[in-house]
Formats: sequence, C-alpha cells, structure tokens
Amino acid sequence: MQHSDLDTLKKILSMEKQRGFNDTTVFGGLDRFLTRRIEKSSVGPIIDIPSIGYAYMTGAQRKRWIEGTLKLLEASPKSPSKQIATPKQRAEPSKSSRRKEQWPDTSHSLASHVTVLPRVTTTQAARLKRLGVTTIRDLLYLFPRRHNDFGKLCKVSQLEMDVEQTVTVNVWEAREVLMGGRLKATQAVVGDDTGNVRVVWFNQPYLAKQFKPGSRLVLSGKLSIFRNDRVMESPEYEVLREGEELIHTGRLVPLYPLTDGLTPRTVRRLIKDALDTWSPHIEDSLTETARKRTGLMELPQAIYQAHYPQDEESKDAARRRLAFDELFMIQLYVFSRRLEWRDTMNAIPLPKNQETLNAFFSRLSFTLTGAQEKAISEILGDMEQERPMSRLLQGDVGSGKTAVALAALLSTVANGYQGAFMAPTEILAQQHFNNISLLLNGIPNPESHGSWCSFQLAGFPRPFSVGILIGSHSAKQKREIQEMLGQGTLDMVVGTHALAQKGVEIPRLALAVVDEQHRFGVMQRASLRQKGGTPHLLVMSATPIPRSLALTLYGDLDLSLLDELPPGRQVIQTKWVAPKQRRSAYEFISREIRQGRQAFIVCPFIEESEVIQARAAITEFKHLSTDVFPDLSLGLLHGRMPFKEKEEIMSRFQRGDMDILVSTPVIEVGIDNPNATVILIEGADRFGLAQLHQFRGRVGRGEHQSRCLLMSDNPSPEAQERLEVMERISDGFAVAEEDLRFRGPGDYFGTRQSGLPDLRMARLSDQDLLALARQEASALLKEDPKLELAQHNALAQNLSTFASSPQGEIS
Ligand code: ADP
Ligand code: MG
Repeated sequence: MQHSDLDTLKKILSMEKQRGFNDTTVFGGLDRFLTRRIEKSSVGPIIDIPSIGYAYMTGAQRKRWIEGTLKLLEASPKSPSKQIATPKQRAEPSKSSRRKEQWPDTSHSLASHVTVLPRVTTTQAARLKRLGVTTIRDLLYLFPRRHNDFGKLCKVSQLEMDVEQTVTVNVWEAREVLMGGRLKATQAVVGDDTGNVRVVWFNQPYLAKQFKPGSRLVLSGKLSIFRNDRVMESPEYEVLREGEELIHTGRLVPLYPLTDGLTPRTVRRLIKDALDTWSPHIEDSLTETARKRTGLMELPQAIYQAHYPQDEESKDAARRRLAFDELFMIQLYVFSRRLEWRDTMNAIPLPKNQETLNAFFSRLSFTLTGAQEKAISEILGDMEQERPMSRLLQGDVGSGKTAVALAALLSTVANGYQGAFMAPTEILAQQHFNNISLLLNGIPNPESHGSWCSFQLAGFPRPFSVGILIGSHSAKQKREIQEMLGQGTLDMVVGTHALAQKGVEIPRLALAVVDEQHRFGVMQRASLRQKGGTPHLLVMSATPIPRSLALTLYGDLDLSLLDELPPGRQVIQTKWVAPKQRRSAYEFISREIRQGRQAFIVCPFIEESEVIQARAAITEFKHLSTDVFPDLSLGLLHGRMPFKEKEEIMSRFQRGDMDILVSTPVIEVGIDNPNATVILIEGADRFGLAQLHQFRGRVGRGEHQSRCLLMSDNPSPEAQERLEVMERISDGFAVAEEDLRFRGPGDYFGTRQSGLPDLRMARLSDQDLLALARQEASALLKEDPKLELAQHNALAQNLSTFASSPQGEIS
C-alpha cells in the first residue's frame, strides 16, 4: 500500500468536507482526481469510486459518500479498525474443518478486488468479471441459479435406473480406459456393504489418479445401461475427507451461472472459500430491532445459506432476507428522493396555451388517440403547478409517446423557457431531431452543419430554435450548441446523455424529457434535472410493469398511461422458426422486399463485448449479402462504427434506399420506419422477453401487416417457453407480466436489459415482502429522514452506493 496516495486522498476528502462538499478542493474536480490518480492506485480497490461521478451527486449524496469513504480509509492498514481487523464468529462454523481457518488479510476489505483471494488468478478474475463479479462482495452476491438436491443418501442396492441419486462408496479400482478405441475415460468399480457398481467418466482420464483404491467417494448421478451393464455415467463426484464439508455432492448443491473457462466445481470452490472467510464480515444494514420486528434472517447467515443451505427451509429464509434487502433499498431510495423534492424544490409554472397546442396538432398527419390526449392534459396540468412535475409516461412500443413529449416541450418553449429531450442513443437523438425539423418545417442553420434549426410556426407566439447535442459531433458544433444553451438563445435541445454532462448549462430549463428512461441510470436522470432551476421532469418508458412493482420502483413518480395504440395497427405475427425453415424465412423476406417493403435482421447477443458483437455482425452481413440476398441492397449497423457512418446507414434505410438492415442489438430502441415489415432475430433464445418485445416493435409501425421471425437453433426448455410467449402474446403489458414471471433468482442480465434494477432474489410474487419493505422504509425515514443516526451508517452507505450505480446502463 502506498501511503502517499492514501494520505493525499484522506486529506483531500477531509478538506472537501470542510468546504461544504462544493467540489472545489481539487483543480478540475474530484472526479478527475479520482479517475486519474486514485482508481488505478493501490487505494482504488479499497474505496467505492462513484460510477456516475461526484460532480453529479446531490449535496446529501456527496456528504454520505465522503464520510463513508473517509471511514473506509481510516480502516485501511495504517490504522486498522474493527471493521476488518476483528474476526467475528463465522456464519456457519464447520466444527472440524481440515482446511486451516483463513482470516482475512487485514489490508483487504469486501470491496477489494477478487484477486486478493488465495485461489483467484488474474485469468479467473477476468472470467468472473463476465459474470459481473469484480470485488469480494460481488462474489458473495453471485447467487446460484438453483440447487441440485443431492442431500438424500442411499445404498448401492437401492440405486434405480434414470433417477438422480447420491451414494457414498469405497473405491475398489479406478483406471484409465479407451472407449471405442479413441476416447479416453476413467472407469471405476465402487461399492458399499450392499453391492458394487461400475462408474464411467468420459473424457476425464485424469480422475483415475485421484481415486485411489480404498478412498471414499460421494457420487451424485443417474444409473443407466451401458454395454449391457448397469453403470453410473459421469456422476458429480467428491472425495470424502475426514472433517471436510461436501460442496459438490451429498447436500443441496449450488448451480451457478457459468462462463467459458469456469467450471461448476471451480466456482463452487471459489465461492465456498470466500464465504468461509468473508461472509462474517458483511455488515448487516438492518438494525437488530428492525430485524427482530421483521423476523428476517441475519445477513451474514442469509448470504451463506443462499449458497450452501442446510435445507430447503433455510434456503427459503435466506432468499426472503436477500429479496427484502433489494426491495427495501429501492423503496428507501424512492422515498428519500420524494422527500427531498417535496421539501426543497420549486419549479416554474408554465400556463397552458391552447393556441400553441393547436398549432402543433395541425401539423401532425394523424389525429391523437384518446390516450395521447389524456396524457397530454395530465402533463400540461402538472406543468402549470409550482411543484415540479415528476411523471412517468408508460406506453407500449409504437403507442406514440414522442408526440406527447413534443406537445409538452413546445408548450415550454411557447412560455419562453428551455426544454431538453434526452434519448439513450445518438441514432435515436438524431431521429428525434430530424422528425421535429421535418414535422415543424425547420430551417436548418447553414453554418451549424445540421446541429440546429430555426422555426416559425403559424399560430405559435414566437419564433424558436431547436438544436442537437451528441458526443460525436465536432467540438465546434458542440461548443456552439453549449453556448447557445448557456445564453438561453437555444429554446429546445435534443441529445444523448451528453446533455447531462458537466459543463452543459441550461439556465432557463423548465422541462426535461427522458426517452426510454430504462436505458439511463437514475443519476443521469437526476443530473439532467440539475441543469436549470428545478425543471419539470417527464420520463418515458416502453417497459410496462405491473402496478405493485411500479409503486415500489417509481413510487416517486406519477403515472400516465398510453393504453391504446394508434388506429389501424395490426398485430405483428410472430413465429419461432426452426433451423430447417431458415431458407423459407429468407424467401419470405425477399418476397416482402419485392413488394416494396424493408426488413431488419438482428444478430444474436454475444457476451458483453461490443467488439465481438461487431465482428459477428460483419461476418453475418458478408454472408447475407453474398450468399443469401446477392440481388438486394443490405446495410450494416453496429456499435463500433463511427457515428457519421451509422447516421448515413440509418438515413439510407429510412429513405428506403436500402432493403435490409443487418444490425447488432443496437436497434432495440426507438427506430421508427413505417415501411419495415419484417424483423428476423437471430439467436432469439438469448434475449429476454422485454427485449424481444422491443425488437418486435421496430416493425408494424405503419399500415402494412408485419412479421417477427424468431430464429433459434437449439433453445433450452425455458427459452422455448419464452419464444412461445412471444408467439402467443402481443400486448406489451401482458408480455411484461410474463417476463417477470420468468425471472427467477439469479437472473443477472434479464433485469438490466428491461431497465428494472438488479433484482436477483426478489420475485414479483413477493407481495408481502414488497409491503414489508415499504412499511420499514417509511418507518425508518420518519425516525431518521436523512439517515444520520450512527446505527444507520451502513444503510446510508449502501443507499449512496445504490443511488450512484446506473440501474440501466446504456448498452
Ligand atoms: P413510441 O411510443 O414507441 O415512442 P412513436 O412516438 O415513435 O412511438 O410513434 C410510433 C409511430 O406512430 C410514429 O411513426 C408516429 O408518427 C405514429 N403515431 C403516433 N401517434 C399516432 C396517432 N395518434 N395516429 C397514428 N400514428 C401515430
Ligand atoms: Mg419512442
């Protein structure tokens, strides 16, 4: 540990505290210092660098973070503190563990990188990272997808054919054999006092050496007939050693999510070791009184039991405790934010002006649906108030949320204030900007190279201007837009999260709209809100969620619903296509194109790397253009392309100059081309329901009958069920219900993709836990609204970590 970095950081944070958390302590801001100097230093792993940036935290969050971090730094080796130095009782002491008890090295904490664990190499750390695990705490929270019940032991004579069973046996003989002349295997003869049985492990000849004659094994597996003999084939095995706990057999055995290079046995071992050493050090954020009142399990115990449960009952009790924590944290966050707003914020009241609205409506080529009209009137009603609006507009894909947002933005502009419209991707921001320009007859400013337009709308009280701000525009363009925004001369701005960045000032901002809000972290939403005074906030989402959950997740927002699609929309026919029907799927696409329509082909989701996704898409694109559709015009879109290229491809597709758009999953949100009638999704089994529904929403946006073809070569039974849901259900709300039903504990990626916070343990059916979490959170805040009491320290720290973790990162 380099003390200089540690000491400097301590000094800076203390000074920042003295100065009232105004980010003036270091030149260039604390974030810069943290990322340039601290993150990669030896101090980096000890502290929790705020992922969204100190600059974007509220005062209360800054205070919490600094104080929490200072405490962590105090606890570091120079001045060891009780937090990590005193071993508490183990959560689950195994009486005579043969392995020497390892107490944590005092220079590490739960926030340390996994490589400080004895068995974790850097290669393994990289693999764990793919499962979302970086720190020791992450590893403890990597819960199994499910457990195999290998707990009931039987005798060899009781073994039945084709039933998963567990036996404890002596090894009589084990040797390496050849199967069919080539394949190496281990074959053993084992038995107990009731009989003997043969066991074969294909492909694992090295086991022969591990199973010494006379040693004892626990085997879990099925008996089958092999070459006219009863044989156990490749059972899960474990050598029984005196005093050592079983982790692979003979109990409820955890099955973890896996990734290339990590075997189930390795993950079990790593997690078991981490649990033994570290689970006692997890601080329980529930106070003793609250824990007693709720009857929930202690946290260290719950973490242990979630992995290696004693029995089904404690497994369930552990899940309840962990699920409660997830819901409680969300609830606490939502409640404390609502308190903060209600107490302190004042917005600009924006009177509604019917003439303005009529000017806008008359330019639309369609009549608004009843649902759109109702939403607009709810929103404008809120905006007339002095209390800042916080409203969620939910509507299925294609329900016409954009028009509602525009009505609100124009009403803001008509009042002489600024409006901001934040979209999750540059493509989508550009599309919104282009649509506004076209719809309202914008006159592009010739010198700005397309970054702003001016407007003179008949019936509108004043001329106004709309600009676009996205990261890949030239520095000059960005500067101009930022200047105009800062001076208040730009009335409306469309952009990506670039809008939420530091340095973008929007002094007269009175309305902020966040499109596809599930793609943004809560903090990005919040930081956009801090740009002007306190703007009214409208967030829009196509991920409909059931009311009970909405109350918890968005309890701080009022809700408007677009529960009606524009007239004339047809149900998108969805079909799961078997591999042998691939050719006819392609033929179908060709036919549609001959009739003047267009198509999307989406490449499968591959791990988390954009580079690999891009590479796969390029290969697929080449194959499709040369072998499958040589006569058609195809375009390729992937995340690694420069924006200019993406934009060029998109506008060719929108203009109809291209027949098929081949793309990585980037097109998921928002793209609106009414002429596209087919979407073919490769590797459909890899996507969650919410995401498939989003994809499907890319077609059927015009008058033509549209289809969604789901390609999946070899779906698991669960994936099959998902695909069938897609075939059967077209309504987004119903899909969402199904989606939540599918999500069990341990579904790490699904929730993120649909914008819900990472619920690993909580289920939709946990109605009682939802209620309990609400009750506890509101009681707690009544007692200690700012979580300042000493017994709430751990909780306050967790809350600020939760608040600064982007809950739905932009992919
Ligand atoms: P989403 O809610 O998915 O963001 P959009 O706002 O992109 O949907 O609208 C989808 C399409 O429907 C757009 O082409 C839009 O012009 C069109 N649209 C919106 N409202 C109506 C309406 N009331 N009648 C007909 N078409 C509409
Ligand atoms: Mg949209």
